Amino acid sequence: YRYASSSTFKFSDLQIQLTTSPKPKPDDPDSVAFGHCFSDHMMEVSWSASSGWGKPQISPVHNLNLHPGAKCFHYATELFEGMKAYKTTDGRVNLFRPTENMARMLSSATRSSLPTFDGNELIECIKKLVSIEKDWVPNSNKASLYIRPTLIGTEGVLRVDAPKEALLFVLVGPVGAYYPTGLKPVSLLADPKYVRAWPGGSGNFKMGCNYAPTMFIQQEAAAKGCQQVLWLFGEEEQITEVGAMNLFMFWTNEQGEDELVTCPLNGLVLPGVTRKSLLELAKSWGEFKVSEREYTMKDLVKGLNENRVKEFFGAGTACVVCPVEKILYKSQWLDIPTMSKGAPLTMRMYNALLDIQYGRVKHEWSVPV
Ligand code: PMP
Repeated sequence: YRYASSSTFKFSDLQIQLTTSPKPKPDDPDSVAFGHCFSDHMMEVSWSASSGWGKPQISPVHNLNLHPGAKCFHYATELFEGMKAYKTTDGRVNLFRPTENMARMLSSATRSSLPTFDGNELIECIKKLVSIEKDWVPNSNKASLYIRPTLIGTEGVLRVDAPKEALLFVLVGPVGAYYPTGLKPVSLLADPKYVRAWPGGSGNFKMGCNYAPTMFIQQEAAAKGCQQVLWLFGEEEQITEVGAMNLFMFWTNEQGEDELVTCPLNGLVLPGVTRKSLLELAKSWGEFKVSEREYTMKDLVKGLNENRVKEFFGAGTACVVCPVEKILYKSQWLDIPTMSKGAPLTMRMYNALLDIQYGRVKHEWSVPV
């Protein structure tokens, strides 16, 4: 019965109400801290089991009016996406692979017992929101407009079952340069006593409930001088991903081949859009072996001891790539030589993706707004 009414909202139903009091834009978009600044407008559309999706609406950013019993507050019925819009040097605005974010959002929705919809309709609504906010997209080749689609269960019933009411909304806001002055390497805390995800769990979906329990461990990492947490899994201490990034290791493997390795989509990692893009780029270059396979702390430590590890880096929408220089593992600092030769592969991947995102090279991944 759930989809008896409207199984998707439609861009063609979009209603727009513009603000009469636009906010001042940041003076220096490159220095805006991530997630602190929101534009003037948001998009939202509500859903109920009885009547399906309503009409999407763009209106000034406003607080939500929710019953305190809403399921998102009690059972974390919530999911989100993270994507960006980029301003090109000739003033156009591009999204990067938005269909990938929609596919991931729909898989998170299914796993969260939240309603699904036609991702293309949401892309069209997002394009409209971004074009209304085009002056909020920084004129900078370092900054961008972050886009945060969110879906929550709003039904005010304290029963652990699929919500019969939901709200989808999209916030956008400028985010400054992740690297104001060139790639900056980070240190990671790898403590096998903490686990982020497990087979059959929900770690491969972008649900808020995966992030809340990590903040405590993130604080422990910070207290120990690490910027992020490296999540290990199992007896073998599989290397999975970091706080909000997938991980790549570029090394010479035991067979003497140059190989780029990342954890497979085995349920333990988020299927990152950046991860997918870097794998596709590396395969298209055809210069070294590219592997999605499980690898462990033992492999990394042995590789380091035998001088076979070249570069180790994170990959995600926020940073594109992030070189790793140290790992705190069992009270010992492992030195990762990522920067020793200037991180040539990490840099090449960084520049290749930025060239596409900022429209400096033409590519089908870049979608005009
Ligand atoms: N892993 C986690 C846990 C994340 O939160 C993110 C950020 N969405 C990523 C990986 C990277 O994904 P993406 O490349 O799509 O930003």
